[in-house]
Amino acid sequence: MTAELTGLHAVVTGGASGIGLATSRLLVERGARVAVLNLDPSGCEPPLTGLHADVGNDASVRDAMEAAAAAFGGIDILVNNAGIGAAGTVEDNSDEQWHTVLDINVLGVVRATRAALPHLRRSTHAAIVNTCSIAAPAGLPQRALYSASKGAVFSLSRAMAADHVREGIRVNCVNPGTVDTPWIGRLLDASDDPAAERAALNARQPHGRLVTADEVAAAIVCLAGPAAGSVTGTVLAVDGGMAGLRLRPVGI
Ligand code: NAD
Repeated sequence: MTAELTGLHAVVTGGASGIGLATSRLLVERGARVAVLNLDPSGCEPPLTGLHADVGNDASVRDAMEAAAAAFGGIDILVNNAGIGAAGTVEDNSDEQWHTVLDINVLGVVRATRAALPHLRRSTHAAIVNTCSIAAPAGLPQRALYSASKGAVFSLSRAMAADHVREGIRVNCVNPGTVDTPWIGRLLDASDDPAAERAALNARQPHGRLVTADEVAAAIVCLAGPAAGSVTGTVLAVDGGMAGLRLRPVGI
């Protein structure tokens, strides 16, 4: 049986770790050829094609996107996944931190999409999936800057979907809850009591545990493939119910 994505070519930003790496591997498993655009692509082993790119730098993104398109003979799928975090209330981050996080998380999506669009327009199965976050729809404490950046990604995804639907390019996003990736590992390591912090994050999710990178990858790959040919402008929550469910406290 031919795999669902056979013959399709994908680019995943931030695909060398966590959600991006799980997505890149699943895309390959489903038959796609995959280029990973990452600050440090050295961990990307064949069949992944690792390319150095900084989504904060337009020339770097354009160069890597052109290299991927030339290597594959086109691009059908773009996963805008590279992102960075920030902690604090609206009082806590400097203007410089605001500019940096918005530059990577929001303009990074803009740069990669701009560079990929000429190639996506030539595809008959063009799709973009943006990695957004539960921080877009839910108010999380100590995440003012990060939430603002992901709120922008959410709105940008909808606007892009409207702009490009008549060109045959679908745009969707996924909203993961807290996902067990190296990113969260770093946050836990930096906390005073990593075990207690992990337990608190588990408890915040209605299904009682962190989301896995493979679960987010499955959602991204589903939205990216031709089977989702009529799905555009949507957000798919992969958050154990965090955005939509209101449970009674345990035992009450
Ligand atoms: P991660 O740190 O494990 O992986 C992120 C990857 O992006 C790394 O390989 C990193 O090198 C790369 N990257 C960072 N800045 C880059 C840049 N300027 N140019 C190119 N590559 C860059 O993180 P993750 O947890 O897999 O997160 C991936 C995405 O998922 C991010 O957009 C994040 O905001 C989002 N997200 C994560 C969680 C979570 O709990 N882990 C939850 C919701 C959303």
